[in-house]
Amino acid sequence: MINTCPRVVIMGPPGSGKSTQAEILAHRLGIPYISTGDLLRFIASQNTSLGNEIKAYLDRGEIVSDDLTVQLIVTIVSKDEYKHGYVGEGFPRTVIQAEAMDSLIDYVIYIKIADSVVIKRLLSRLSCPKCGENYNLITQPPLIQGVCDHCQTKLTSRSDDTKAIILNRLKVYHQTTEPVIAYFQSKNKLIVINGEPEVEIVSKNILNIIAKCVPNKVESDSTKWGTNEAI
Ligand SMILES: [Zn+2]
Repeated sequence: MINTCPRVVIMGPPGSGKSTQAEILAHRLGIPYISTGDLLRFIASQNTSLGNEIKAYLDRGEIVSDDLTVQLIVTIVSKDEYKHGYVGEGFPRTVIQAEAMDSLIDYVIYIKIADSVVIKRLLSRLSCPKCGENYNLITQPPLIQGVCDHCQTKLTSRSDDTKAIILNRLKVYHQTTEPVIAYFQSKNKLIVINGEPEVEIVSKNILNIIAKCVPNKVESDSTKWGTNEAI
């Protein structure tokens, strides 16, 4: 049995479930999951010079610079616990970052999903104003229509989910991410996955593809997690 997994990054539009998929894959492979968003928020909460620098970006609502993002990811993945592979999400965001991190990434899984499906999914999101629980009318409906399962409060639409905001996020996404996708395609590292089926189907498809890269590792984990049935 080999004990090294690939270093994988998952990319996809808002609403593609990329962080969920990255977490599932990392769990199945038994390797760490890196969420750039979580990482930035964590570092910003610490009173260090790097923390303060990142906090200043976040406070201004700006995207953290290429240099700083690369420096952060390189520092993280150089640690011992990442030497057997990892699943990352939220990086690289630009071609400059992609070039700088190229040697740290073996595969990029691109969860492809039509804009119309993204819009429908995001508009179906509801949350509880009292306890903060999130729901989705399509993928994760509450037990009773319009009411929170936990505290029975009336659910509301998420404020950042109006159609105009979603369209703008998609526009920004396409402008910034497509060149990064094209970069990894040119490096033969890109794996495209259809993100439109249910979460479980998408995660099985991702695992199947990764299994071809690390057959022994995934075979043993499939038995453990019961995911070895045919798709
Ligand atoms: Zn609630």
